[in-house]
Amino acid sequence: LDDAPAPEAVARLRALLPRARVGGLDASALAGAETIYLSPGVPLRLPAIAAAREQGVPVRGDVELFAKAAKAPLVAVTGTNGKSTVAQLIYLMAAAQRDGVRLGGNIGRPCLDLLTDDASLYVLEVSSYQLELAAGLQTEVALVLNLSPDHLDRYDTLDDYYRVKLGLYKGCRHPVVNRGLGRGPQPEGALSWGLDEPPGGRDLGARALADGLELLWGRNALLHSSQLRLAGAHNAANALAALAAGVQLGLGMDGMLETLRGFGGLPHRGEWLGSAAGVGFVNDSKATNPGAMAASIRGFASGRNVLLICGGEAKGLGFAEALPAVEAHVKQAFLIGADRARLAAELPARLAKADCGTLEEAVRRARKAAVAGDLVLLAPGCASTDQFRDFAERGERFRELVGDLLGDRVGVAPPPPTHGVGELPQRPRLVKKRGSGMGALR
Ligand code: ADP
Repeated sequence: LDDAPAPEAVARLRALLPRARVGGLDASALAGAETIYLSPGVPLRLPAIAAAREQGVPVRGDVELFAKAAKAPLVAVTGTNGKSTVAQLIYLMAAAQRDGVRLGGNIGRPCLDLLTDDASLYVLEVSSYQLELAAGLQTEVALVLNLSPDHLDRYDTLDDYYRVKLGLYKGCRHPVVNRGLGRGPQPEGALSWGLDEPPGGRDLGARALADGLELLWGRNALLHSSQLRLAGAHNAANALAALAAGVQLGLGMDGMLETLRGFGGLPHRGEWLGSAAGVGFVNDSKATNPGAMAASIRGFASGRNVLLICGGEAKGLGFAEALPAVEAHVKQAFLIGADRARLAAELPARLAKADCGTLEEAVRRARKAAVAGDLVLLAPGCASTDQFRDFAERGERFRELVGDLLGDRVGVAPPPPTHGVGELPQRPRLVKKRGSGMGALR
């Protein structure tokens, strides 16, 4: 059942199941179903689904089907923010030390496409929607990275959303927990990470130094945060989470540190695009909720004034979470998208705000307002779907606009990761369009 079935997919389905019924999702279509398998994109709150559940029809998802068929152990990563980054890091660390490691789920390939007989380990990024439909999921290692407000368009309360995420620990053999989470179970045998000093010899943590953070494994110093190519305390936390997962998997620490030092991050998550006349540009289009927006502002400001481009589809969320970071670092906000009036009302009254509407206008006005030493940061704190296909399209548009703006002065983007980025495409880099003198993207 699909509201907009792709003809090519229908043809493939008919080849497998000639009598398959194809049509929209409504209660009559579901009448008599024994079990409903739901794509993670479809909300459980849809009336037809809710009615079927009330009648006791089991509703399941792809992760549960995957787990039934998978023969290799599973590492599952969930949380509000940082899932893709941490899943990618765990994958790279494991794949550098073992054969047959597969990465997918909410990142990259759907989990059902990953199944192979020669897999030795699966690393899955799992959304709360997928977890809701994966009751009894058994994992080797599980991580709930962090919990902050998101997806109130799909849940009645934030507690419902948090409960679903924390449910991941139920079927886990070797849990990995965030000491800063402040809620949920402390599963037995768990290994912990946090940005404070580690309580035990196997736990991961950090010590604040005058010039950054020293990452620690028990009492052992691992590396200084300046040796990471990912900026910000949130990314140091992501690195520690991935290391903790690797310790639970029995990976060698030296090898993991080598992978970590070479990891340049995923596209649209705090991507440095370049600078002109002392003004820097960072693309964090994937910061799609207030918690990510706050982490992004704190992580990338590093002493600079931030000109923040934000807005989009707010998903029913308030912005209280982001206000302290905005107060501390943001000089002016450039508001875009459907919920910009809401953002304008919630951001501090004394903050200068420009009602821009579109990303194009926001980039133009931010560039005009910026002075040497400022940072123009796209960290929307909102979903993109009111104006773009997804966060990636929004990020790509931002790259193009910044590329055109910087022209000859395009700063070179950070070098590509020295390790491959698994099953995801390599990050695109800013390049100069020949002849026009303008920056462009390939
Ligand atoms: P997810 O898959 O959960 O969306 P990503 O790794 O794609 O996570 O990161 C999305 C955004 O979340 C980043 O661009 C950054 O703004 C923010 N972020 C990343 N890690 C963290 C973290 N540990 N805590 C808070 N925010 C984070």
